[in-house]
Parts: sequence; C-alpha cells; structure tokens
Amino acid sequence: MTDVLRASVVNWDALGRETIDLLRQYLMLDTTNPPGNETVGARFLEEVLARDGIASETVESAPGRGNLVARLRGDGSEGGIVLHHHIDVVYADRRYWTVDPFGGLIRDGFLYGRGALDMKSTGILHLAGMLAIKRAKIPLKRDLILLATADEEAGSQFGAQFVADRHRDWLAGAEYALSELGGIYPASGSTAPFGTIVTSEKTGLPLRLTARSEPGHGSMPWPDTAPNRLIRALARLLEAERPLRVLPEVQEYFAKLGSVLPGEAGRGYDDLAHSLGEAGFRRAFLAKRQQAAMVRTTFAVTVLKGSEKRNVIPPEAVADIDCRLLRGDDPEEIVSWVRGVIADERVEVSLINPSPKIPNSSPPDTPLYKALGLALGRRAPGVVVAPDILVGFTDNWVFRNCGLHGYGFSPFILGDEEWRRVHGNDERISLENLREGARCHTEMLLDLAAA
Ligand SMILES: [Zn+2]
Repeated sequence: MTDVLRASVVNWDALGRETIDLLRQYLMLDTTNPPGNETVGARFLEEVLARDGIASETVESAPGRGNLVARLRGDGSEGGIVLHHHIDVVYADRRYWTVDPFGGLIRDGFLYGRGALDMKSTGILHLAGMLAIKRAKIPLKRDLILLATADEEAGSQFGAQFVADRHRDWLAGAEYALSELGGIYPASGSTAPFGTIVTSEKTGLPLRLTARSEPGHGSMPWPDTAPNRLIRALARLLEAERPLRVLPEVQEYFAKLGSVLPGEAGRGYDDLAHSLGEAGFRRAFLAKRQQAAMVRTTFAVTVLKGSEKRNVIPPEAVADIDCRLLRGDDPEEIVSWVRGVIADERVEVSLINPSPKIPNSSPPDTPLYKALGLALGRRAPGVVVAPDILVGFTDNWVFRNCGLHGYGFSPFILGDEEWRRVHGNDERISLENLREGARCHTEMLLDLAAA
C-alpha cells in the first residue's frame, strides 16, 4: 500500500481518540493476577469487536480465566499474524500510587493505570488496528488474529500455554506472532533514537539446592550442619564465574547501541567478545545488571528454607535458585556445572521443573521483522534499530514453539523514567504515544497484510 493511500483510508485523528478512550475503559477493569479474572477483560474486548461486526470466541481455562480470539480473514495467500497480548496485570500497591491504579485517570497528557504499559496498551493498539482495517473494508492477503490471553504474569499455564495445548486451531494459518516489549528509546543524550525488536528471550531454569546432615540442638552447633553446608555451597556458587558468551544478535544489539551513544560511551561495543577479554571493560560492562544478564546464564538466590525453630538445627536446608538460561546453554550441563562449583556431594542439585523450557528465537530478516523496522523508522525518524534478547520471559516463547516467528514490537517512545513504572508505581502512558502508536501499528499492519 502506498503512503498516500495508507494516509487516506483511515481517519487517524478519530482512531487516536478512540484508542485513548478504549484503553481508559480497559484499564478500569481490575485483572490483577492472582486471581486474574481475565474474563471481564475478554468480555469488554468482545463487546467492542461486536459493535463493528467482528465475531470473537472466549474460552475459560478455569473459572474467570478468559482467553479470547477474533479473526479478520484475508485471502490466505500469505501466512496470518497473531496479535497477542495478556489481559492480566500484576498487583498494584495502592499505598505507593498517587492515583487510583484502576481509575483510568488522565493527567498532564498521560493516562494512568496498572497495565498502561504492561500491556493493555499494546492490546488496545492491536484492537484499534483491527477495527480500522475492518471499517475501511481493506482486502487482506493475511489473516489478522487478535488473541487476548490470561495468566502471563504467573507463568501462562491458563493463557498462552492453554491456547497452545487446547486451542491450537486458533493459530491456524498463522506465520507470525506479535506481542509486547521492544520499543524506542528517545535520542536524549545520544546521537539518534535507539529502537529494539525482540527476537528471543531467556527462559527460567529453576534449581533447588538441598543440603542434608544430622539434626541437633542449637546450643551445640558443629561445622557440617545442613544450613552451614548450604551456605558454603551458595557462597561457592556466587563466587564462580559462569563463562560469558556473546550471541550474534547480542553483538548486533551492542554494535548498534554503541553507534548512537555519545563520545566514548560505546567504546568496545563493536567487538564485544574481544572487549570482554579486557579486565576494565569487563568489570564496567558486567556492573550493569541487564547487560550482564544478556551474555551469560544467571543464578539468583531467591528462596531460603531451614529450620522452623530457632533452637533446632534442621536435618535439611533448601535454597531455590532463579536460574535464567542463555540460549545455547544446556540444562544438564548447567546442573553439572553447579554441582562442580559447589563441590559437596551432600548438597543435592536438582531441577524444580523436570521438563525445562529451552530458549528459542526468531530470525531478524523475515518480511515481518523488516516491516517492524520500517514502522519504527516512521515513528522516530533516524532511529537505529537492533534485535533484542529479553532477559525476562514472554508468551512469544510459547508461540515460537507452535512454529510461529514471534517478535516483541512496540511503537512507543519511552525513556527510563517511564520503564521504571512497569510493575512499579504510577504506571502510565502518554496520550501522544497512544495516538501515534495506534497509527504506526495500524500502518505496519496495512503494509504487511493489505492485499
Ligand atoms: Zn507483560
């Protein structure tokens, strides 16, 4: 579709206003997970779609845990695009918010609410795009499939995984899955805006360390109690250096990032594997938590359990480790590496989940990836775009395992100040991001799917 035609088929001002209004209503529905209660969100989407004659289907994976699908049909000559978002949001601690997290308040050019960024806003962009394309009666070559899922914030069992296991037909004919994260960092402080498209993500490999020894009285401790063994094992694990590995897309990410950073800030980013061999560079690079997590499998000690009583030395002490796997690392190798570094046969190392999630990825050269890059360029002229590996997890992992190419895409321009509010306090999105984001996202769909 040409730029001129695209500009004329949709009333962009009206779509922008509608996007803001729809998100306001969606944010006012409390879908905090747990319990989720996503069906109220699904019913809302269902009503909005029905007003424009788009049929949808809602199925509950458990009481209240609604998942919704709706499809705009193309001629089937090319593969469909699944636009998926999660309806659930994380808990909002009202004591630390200055506004009602479910009040739908607009103040100083921002719409506030839990889910404003993660990720009801993206879901509403998907919805707005479908509505605009339906109203304009634009013939499509690809199906557009709107998918709203439950439970992403608590592991996806009642959402994306449920769809993959029980409603695979909802994905029929699809080639791509598009979802949250990625986006544009503003140029402030650098030479150009920096855009990212998520192509892969790390996966969780929860580990358990269990130390065992004789129980006894707290008044007469000895060196090899179960808690003492566990503490020494953990100390050795924390001291150990997991080898660093630079994946090709991580290298590309840092090379592009280095190209927009001012002055010396990006020095060494063009050949990261080499630069990480220098002690000074390595120390500075790894001091940034997110960067450090992009180049290695990580181990976070999160749960510790010992005795129920202070004067009882327990026969068992347990630590759960939130281990996150870098693509290419093998769970068996990780477990034996951990056994090796803790070097104590009386501390058992086990996988909490016997069938671990293996990281997957989608190539950064598909027609969709290219269209996403062009869209970011329209949203922020001069933007430098790089593929990104998330250190967290999203539902795209599930849909890649169903054979789709899955990407995280966002047309929002957000700085650190806004990102800090995700899962934090006073989460919000600017009205400008909503208006321009709805246009950018819809134009991208027209580029890719219009016949
Ligand atoms: Zn999310």
